[in-house]
Formats: sequence, C-alpha cells, structure tokens
Amino acid sequence: MSDAAPGVLRVGVSGAAGRVGSAICAAVEAAEDLELAGRADPQLGVALADILGDCDVVVDFTTPDTALENAQACLRAGVHVVIGTTGFDVDALRDAEGANVFAAPNFAIGAVLMMRFAAEAARHMPKAEIVELHHDGKLDAPSGTAKRTAELMGGDVPIHSVRLPGLVAHQEVILGDVGQTLTIRHDTTSRESFMPGVLLAVRRVGDLDESPVVGLERLL
Ligand code: NAP
Repeated sequence: MSDAAPGVLRVGVSGAAGRVGSAICAAVEAAEDLELAGRADPQLGVALADILGDCDVVVDFTTPDTALENAQACLRAGVHVVIGTTGFDVDALRDAEGANVFAAPNFAIGAVLMMRFAAEAARHMPKAEIVELHHDGKLDAPSGTAKRTAELMGGDVPIHSVRLPGLVAHQEVILGDVGQTLTIRHDTTSRESFMPGVLLAVRRVGDLDESPVVGLERLL
C-alpha cells in the first residue's frame, strides 16, 4: 500500500502502455495533487488486481472486451473509476455499487462542443450524416463519439467510419437543407487534447452524486 501526502489522490492507470494510457501516466505524474500509484497493462506484466490496493481512482483506457470487467473489479475494491474506453455498454454498470463510475466517449473539450453544436443544429436542419475518421488501430466502429453525437441529435443519423494510418481522431457532422449544407468538424491532432478532461474527471469522480455519470459535459 502506498501512502500519499494528505490531499493527494492516488491514481492507477489501466492500459498504461497504450497510446492514451501512456500519455495519462505522464499527465498524472506532472500534476502536483495526483500521484501515479500504479500502471496496469499486459504489456508491462502488471494486472489491474495488482495495483488496486494502492489506488483511490483508476483510469481505464483499454479495450472494449476488458473495460467492463476492469470497472467491476475497481468497484468491488471500492476504487472509483474513470472510463475512456469505448465500444462497450456502460449501462451494464447502472446498478453497480462500491464506488463511483464516470465515463466519457470523448475527453476533448472541442469534441464536447462539436456534439453540443451538432445537437443544436439538428433542431433546425432536417437531415444529417456523421463521418468519423480514426487511426487504423482503433478496435470499435462506429466510434463512441459518433454514437453519442447521433443520440444527442435525436437518433436516426447515419454514421460512416473511416480507419486509416495517419489519422488520430476526427469527426464531421454534415447537415443538409434545401440549397445549403452545414459542416461541423472536430480534429484531435494529439492525445494531449484528452488530458485536461481526464484529470478533471479524476478529481471529481469521488464526489459524484449519482453513478455512472456519462459525458464530460456533465462536469463542465
Ligand atoms: P491502445 O493503444 O491499444 O491501448 C490499450 C492498452 O490497454 C494496450 O496496451 C492493451 O494491452 C491494454 N490492455 C488490454 N487489456 C487490458 C487489461 N485487462 N488491463 C489493463 N490493460 C489492458 O488503445 P488506445 O488508442 O490507447 O485506446 C484505448 C481505448 O480508449 C479505446 O477504446 C479507444 O477507443 C478509447 N479512447 C477514448 C478516448 C476518449 O476521449 N474517451 C480517446 C481516445 C481513445 P494489449 O495491447 O496487450 O492488449
């Protein structure tokens, strides 16, 4: 068990060797009020169970087939969990107890604004389609962000998924009306874009008055 200084949150990262997880480890290490309490990842030979005893909060950026099991293990241990992993059903954590769950399909502020503007535009323009574009290592399609955007726009919005090397995470919402179109586009050019949102969620997850809470906009 690691002892953190008073007021310092002990944060574990699940998926710590991954593209996003490694950036989160660096961001936690750089924050004065947070301590990096453990890095779990098969690539590091460390299981989540090995670090749970040292953590107040775990951040999970892993894979669609392990995120639910990881979150349940955190809750059983009384550890709050912040989930960025997409492509699994967060609703399965609806009745879970033990600690709090916060999940967001996108932790970038620009993406949250894109979703908000798309929902507003959908109230005024009759038809829309979403094109989401990601790096070719992404396991789920359509993206969690695209599904959430369509939901906020009132459903029934076709989604097209592009997976190519060279991309990070991008989305266009194209709305059409007689004689005009409107395109709302967000580009993630670096995974650093997710860090302020992830750290905000880490600091706030313990104080949520319901669980799970989904969407970064719920904390802003
Ligand atoms: P990645 O580079 O593949 O990293 C995932 C890491 O998790 C890998 O190192 C993987 O190891 C590890 N892992 C697999 N099972 C694990 C387990 N049970 N416990 C601990 N670690 C485990 O993927 P990424 O690009 O970082 O993305 C991770 C997830 O975050 C994806 O679902 C992606 O869609 C999502 N994402 C969300 C946001 C957001 O803002 N919400 C932003 C970007 C990405 P192996 O390679 O050995 O399997």
